This record gives sequence, structure tokens and C-alpha cells, in this order.
Amino acid sequence: MEKPAVLGGTPVRENKIYYGRQWIEEDDISAVGDVLRSNFITCGPMVSKVEKELAAYTGAKYAVAVSNGTAALHCACIAAGIREGDEVITTPLTFAASANCALYVGAKPVFADINPETYNIDPKSIREHITPKTKAVVAVDFTGQCVEIEEIRAICDEYHLIFIEDAAHAIGSAYNGKKVGSLADMTCFSFHPVKTITSGEGGAITTNNEELYKKLVLAHTHGITHEEELMEDAPHEGRWVYEQISLGFNYRMTDFQAALLDSQLKKLDGFKEKRQQIVNRYNEAFKDLPGIIVQKEIKESDTCRHLYIIRLDLDKLSCTRREFFDAMSAENVQCQVHYVPVYYFPYYRHLGYEKGLCPNAEEVYKGIMSIPLYPKLTEEEIEDTIHAVKKIHDWYLK
Ligand SMILES: *Cc1c(COP(=O)(O)O)cnc(C)c1O
Repeated sequence: MEKPAVLGGTPVRENKIYYGRQWIEEDDISAVGDVLRSNFITCGPMVSKVEKELAAYTGAKYAVAVSNGTAALHCACIAAGIREGDEVITTPLTFAASANCALYVGAKPVFADINPETYNIDPKSIREHITPKTKAVVAVDFTGQCVEIEEIRAICDEYHLIFIEDAAHAIGSAYNGKKVGSLADMTCFSFHPVKTITSGEGGAITTNNEELYKKLVLAHTHGITHEEELMEDAPHEGRWVYEQISLGFNYRMTDFQAALLDSQLKKLDGFKEKRQQIVNRYNEAFKDLPGIIVQKEIKESDTCRHLYIIRLDLDKLSCTRREFFDAMSAENVQCQVHYVPVYYFPYYRHLGYEKGLCPNAEEVYKGIMSIPLYPKLTEEEIEDTIHAVKKIHDWYLK
């Protein structure tokens, strides 16, 4: 048996690879350069262009580009009319922003548990957490796999809740043949460099609802409008007049970011295919390892996978998750854990959240780590990652 590098053996790789990485090519760079050489580097034509393309790609009627995925979630909560006294149901197995957005508008995040096989929010648990104060559900397409959209839609319709989909991981995914972005009341995307396509920092919200769209537009630019039909005090003395009619933020995307996003969007389907190929390779390589549990996929989801998670079956291994993680690092395959349950953080603890709220999420969290997954991974890097997982697994298998 091969000795792990962490115990003095030879590492699988000489140089480190990380769990995620953007793919920027010369055409992306020249698209950004073109905008930087033009008259408008913000508030120009590229933002509207990419908004149209995002709408076309996702099949949504409207898209609003914003400065990041967190801003997208914040705008969605504003547009949904969520405020103090309201409750918003979300998952604990996510990036903090999925819950923080409720706090931004004075509402209370309520954590529903996950399905222990798919790791996505469990519709049954959503139902159990509904109270008269519940206003919205923020459902996260974790790792890119679609949540159970049909079931969540039915619950939201029954209780008149707004369905916000946090699709930060899921651009390019589809549910029953329909692209993510066209399915919930509002869908939020992130274009951070670790996500599937990037604009540096960036985000977007898509919707089919015109009322929500108008509110999103206001929310991301100070609540200020230039449209006379929206103004209270119109008609005005001249074209220079604008009005602030609600309280909004400056969450605009710049035009050079929009140019990068526009260029990346053209590559999304190619990225998706490469990601799927790597996922298939990993699934095949790990399916017979007794100490590794592979994430289950629902048949409705055609997933553009953002993360590949291995879950350790700690009863079958003689190591802890930490030892496995550190052993992978020593092999020069840098993993990450997605995520520490949100309510474990001190900030949430101080708000009164306690461990034990979501037993499935807590149990899954104990064994998970994300291994490298991005389209730029070379054949050799994929093989090395598989080799490292098998090497550490076999060493510690009871
Ligand atoms: C990345 C991420 C966000 C936030 O996106 P930013 O662009 O980093 O602000 C929100 N939710 C989830 C699930 C994410 O992974």
C-alpha cells in the first residue's frame, strides 16, 4: 500500500491544485480591453447587452446584472417586500449570504434541514418550518444540482410565499429541461471566480414577473428612476430630473465586468460539458470505495456541476475528516469544505441559534470535502486527484 505524503510518503503531485479556478482566455481579456478603451466603463451599453443575454440563456423574461451574488440576494429580498417581523426559510448547508440576505432586510432566517443524500433543502422540512410569519423560501441549488423545484413551487403557492432560488452554483443547470433562472419567482446568480462563469465580482437576478423586475431595478440603483411614468412629481421642468422613489443601494455591475461576463457566457455550455465529464470520471472512480459516499442526483436535474463533494463514511475509516483533508493537502490536492452550517458561526450563535437545529445537515457536514472541479483541469490533474483520494482512502480503510 502507498504511504500518504503526510506520513512521509511521496506526494501524488509536485505542485498544488485547488478546488476551483476560473478560466480566462485572450478573447475574454480583449473584450474587457475594448470596453476600457470606450466611452462608458459603467452605466453603458454592455450591461444591458449582458442582461438580455442572461435572460435569453435562462429563458427568463427579465435579468438585472448586479455587483455580486450577495447583492442579488439582497435585491431579491427587497423586491419580495421582506421586512422586520418576517421569516425566511433557507438551508444551513450554504454560503452565509443565503441567510444573511434575510437579516439585511430585518427578517429572521429559519433553517430547514437537508436531504442527506442530495444535500439540498428538503421540501418536507420547509413545510415543517412554515409559520404565519413566513414570507419567502431561499432555496440553494447546492453544488449546481437543482432543488426539488416542483415540490417547493407547490409549497410556496399553497402558503403564498415568494420562491427565491439561490443559483450561485447553478448557472447552466436545468430542471425537467427548463433552465435554472426561469423557474422560481426570482433566481440569483453569482459570477465570483470560483463559480462556473465569472466577471471578477458579479451577480444577477432573473425573473418572469414584471412587478418584481421593476423593484429589482430600483433596489440595485438607489431607488432612483429616470422614467417619468414612475415619478410622483412628474411632469418636470426638464429631462435632467430624476426621482428617488424607494430606498435602494448602489449594486451596479460595471461595463467591463459585463463584457467579461458576456464573453464567459458564450463558453458556458462548453464548461458545463467539461465539468460533467469530470464528474462522471470521479463518480466512476469512487463508486466502489466503501469509505466514500457520492452525492446523489435527482433525475429532474440536468446539472452543471459547480462542486464535487466526497463524503467520508467515518465508520469505515480510521481517520477523522481533518486527517483526510490534511492528507489530501500533503498530496498537493487542496480541498475545501462547503460549508460549515451557517448557524454554527459566532454571529448566528449570538443571535440565539443553537447546534442541533438541522441534524441531517450537521451529520453530512462532518464528513464532506470538495475536491478539484473546474473545466481547466488537465487529464493528469484529474488522474492525480483520483489517485490521491484512493491512496488516502485505502490507507485509512478499516
Ligand atoms: C458564492 C455564493 C453566494 C454569494 O455570491 P458572491 O458573488 O460571492 O457575493 C451566495 N450563495 C451561494 C450559495 C454562493 O455559493
